[in-house]
Amino acid sequence: MAANSSLSSPMDPLAREKDAKGIQLIEDMTRNADIVQKNFLSEILTRNSDTEYLKKFNLNGATDQETFKSKIPIITYDDIEPFVRRIADGDRSPILSSLPISEFIFSSGTSSGEPKLIPSGREESNRRHLLFSLMTSIIKLHVNGVDKGKGLHFWFTKADIKTKGGIPARSATTSLFKGDLFKTRPYPHNMCTSPNEAVYCLDTYQSTYAQLLCGLYEREHIMRVGAIFASGLLSVIKFLKLNWEQLAHDIRTGSLNLKITDPPLRECMTRIVRPDPELADLIARECANGDNWEGIITRIWPNTKLLEMIVTGTMAQYIPTLDHYSGGLPKVSMLYGASECFFGLNLDPMCDPSEVSYTIMPNMAYFEFSPLESEPDSPGQLVDLVDVEIGKEYEVVITNSSGLYRYRMGDVLKVTGFHHKSPKLQFVRRKNMLLNIDWEKTNEVDLQEAVGHAAKLLREFGTSVVDYTSYADTSTIPGHYVIYWELQAPLKEDSCEKVIEQCCIAMEESLNPIYRLLRVDGSIGPLEIRVVKSGTFEELMNYAISKGGSIGQYKVPRCVSFKPIVDILDSRVLATSFSTSLPKSTRE
Ligand code: AMP
Repeated sequence: MAANSSLSSPMDPLAREKDAKGIQLIEDMTRNADIVQKNFLSEILTRNSDTEYLKKFNLNGATDQETFKSKIPIITYDDIEPFVRRIADGDRSPILSSLPISEFIFSSGTSSGEPKLIPSGREESNRRHLLFSLMTSIIKLHVNGVDKGKGLHFWFTKADIKTKGGIPARSATTSLFKGDLFKTRPYPHNMCTSPNEAVYCLDTYQSTYAQLLCGLYEREHIMRVGAIFASGLLSVIKFLKLNWEQLAHDIRTGSLNLKITDPPLRECMTRIVRPDPELADLIARECANGDNWEGIITRIWPNTKLLEMIVTGTMAQYIPTLDHYSGGLPKVSMLYGASECFFGLNLDPMCDPSEVSYTIMPNMAYFEFSPLESEPDSPGQLVDLVDVEIGKEYEVVITNSSGLYRYRMGDVLKVTGFHHKSPKLQFVRRKNMLLNIDWEKTNEVDLQEAVGHAAKLLREFGTSVVDYTSYADTSTIPGHYVIYWELQAPLKEDSCEKVIEQCCIAMEESLNPIYRLLRVDGSIGPLEIRVVKSGTFEELMNYAISKGGSIGQYKVPRCVSFKPIVDILDSRVLATSFSTSLPKSTRE
């Protein structure tokens, strides 16, 4: 869509009419982005003027952008952690927000290694739902006839954790799906095949099984297949590989797998399951050849027009595998969001994943942008939403409705254009992030600590780690971490494998809590250490210098993805071991 054009589709006037309200909202918000932003901030400052946090900065009733910017500091999570801790422990006074904090959203990575707890309330939750519900309206504008079929969307919820003060803490998606607006969602989400009972079942096996079973029965009506993240959809494909025989059995006989024990889910699925031997034969035919699953998605769901899930940022690493399983179906990446707030939507859904830009919705938060070139000494003059410049990169800073003020998100975004007055932003990278398979976002410090922790086990064998690097291997499902180690002295051949295996386990125990959680629920595969020959890291340096790098500035990359480098490492591997046990998802 050309910059500044209005949303419209000459192909599908009917869909346009049905979803007119949502689309009109996008148009109104983006046309008036400056006013919407100003009002958002003013409303937040008025409402929260008596909070302990804002009172510290003597705004004296001012609600304008200039005063706000001159008095309120730019912060990271560590700055507000003590306030958050008090709320989590049960202090109900207006600390950050005058509205009640009814839940916390988990986000990965703090300096202490604990997940961040992002305060949230009903208003924030409704905002997230609003953006989520607009995605389908936009897709229908752009994909002719997609509203005539259904969506097979794999959505999951996880158990809440209660803070000391009794407030639930959950992931952003669990919060979204547990929200009242989702539970009672009207059109267009009732066009999806997964029943609420499956989405709310906390057991991943039972939930995935039920969602697949529903999708298989409705195979001919399915036009969209999706999950929140690309990694999630690939986990489902792996699940299908492992469980298609049982699924085909249920469909053949009309009976339900005895492992579906969750009472509401069992009751719901008993109503759905019915004998259909023809369908069972088809599934068996398509799935039996385990070596050739190319195009399996379209072979099983022949009318699928698109895959719908986030494929930008680190999720781009899964595109080749998605193409393999779907025969290159269009990949539609609609939403850019975080625990702190949902930012915006892709208004040009059918574009190539490398071209995706998200248009910021100005009613989601008050957004400021820190120009990247001003790093690292000063944040420079922060720029308002409507004043960013095309082609420039910025870090986004948000003020939301549940108590975050001028909070650095750590995401680097590039401005590619505007939709009316609101910028379209391409996700460039997350600052300080090294490895990501799902949403764990391991940073350099996490990795360094995990290597240090594991390497202690080498002492008694008279060796140590000389150098290391890492690689997110997404050719396996689920993806897993590969850590390359060069050792100071070789380990004895007969003990090497076992010792390195113990090191893999120790590394996993030391990685961040979200990593461990995702390992336990099967979203990340066992960590692998590959021991490389002595001198390999010197060769890496020589390679970098031969390509024009400076010897004085060379630093060992702690994560590699460039194929020639990975090839050098792989050609020097002496021994490989995997973790053989699951890490504890919480630390005692
Ligand atoms: P969390 O707060 O743990 O849910 O993670 C949110 C982060 O995930 C964002 O700040 C981004 O770094 C990343 N993220 C979310 N949506 C997208 C997207 N559409 N494209 C790229 N990265 C994303």
